[in-house]
Amino acid sequence: MDFRRELLTAEMIDPGTGELVRARVDVRVDPLTGHSSRILPDRGLMPASDFDLEAFAEQTRPGCPFCPDRIGQLTPKLPPGICPDGRIVIGEAVLFANLHAYSSHSAVSVYSPERHYLPVGGLTRRLLADNLATQVAHARAVMAAEPGSVWASINANHMLPSGSSLFHPHMQGIVDSQPTTLQRMLADVPPERFDAYLDAERRAGERWLGDTGRVCWVVSYAPIAPAELRAFVPGVCSPAQLTAELTDELAHGLALALGGYAEMGFESFNFALYGAPPGTTGYPLNLRLACRSNLREFYRSDSTFLERLHWEGAVDQAPEHVARVLGDRFRVC
Ligand SMILES: [Zn+2]
Repeated sequence: MDFRRELLTAEMIDPGTGELVRARVDVRVDPLTGHSSRILPDRGLMPASDFDLEAFAEQTRPGCPFCPDRIGQLTPKLPPGICPDGRIVIGEAVLFANLHAYSSHSAVSVYSPERHYLPVGGLTRRLLADNLATQVAHARAVMAAEPGSVWASINANHMLPSGSSLFHPHMQGIVDSQPTTLQRMLADVPPERFDAYLDAERRAGERWLGDTGRVCWVVSYAPIAPAELRAFVPGVCSPAQLTAELTDELAHGLALALGGYAEMGFESFNFALYGAPPGTTGYPLNLRLACRSNLREFYRSDSTFLERLHWEGAVDQAPEHVARVLGDRFRVC
């Protein structure tokens, strides 16, 4: 498999010295989806967090609908045909229906009602595994009740810059008869292309993070968002098919990656675990995880006209640099 790229050069006259200077833009094409991405020289576009997240947590705690005093009264229950108890509780995690539905089955799951303040570095394997497990249980319950709802995904908007409207950390699940655009594109990728991609990345090594048993992790060659990672679970095509063991393994990798993000100074992220319909031959369950801008007053959004309107990534952290920073965490596991 070829990793397609085109190196472009921009020329300009330096306003200070009057001399000709050149900047390099590395345009890369994602081997799975064909999306392209521009890797820019380091311009400091993603500064480390200098925001007092804990103080903001205290500001947002009163009235939070996901905190213990209010979650029982203010969050909608699941319909009885999906879950007779109305909520799915595993460990500290609690799943309920999303008040603002994005699909015919839209669920929110908090890591813990008690953990209103939960920085990225505090997202442990246990918290992630239990929260993922509530979403897996929800996807299974929906698919059992409505066989046409075959497209499941588990997602996260973590902190306001990522799109989260509430401070209290949570995941979101979608189970629907309709795929999202990326679900459809990924499900259409021929299985042998996934194999060729992972073989090529494993051989190249410079973006390969490692595998945790059955789940393998790699930094995206052509990221749509900063410090973007991908994980693949071969032999499983829907979140609904994740066993407790695989859910825990996925959580382990997520905790390693998020611990690395925290060390890099990032406090906001998105992830998506893109399910294809159960029975889709050769589709490995895929996850994408990426940083978002840090919360601060008048912060710069990392999502520009390029990402939103051209569907083109533009990042100033080379994927190979991200792999060097995060790689050791996966190698010792
Ligand atoms: Zn809260």
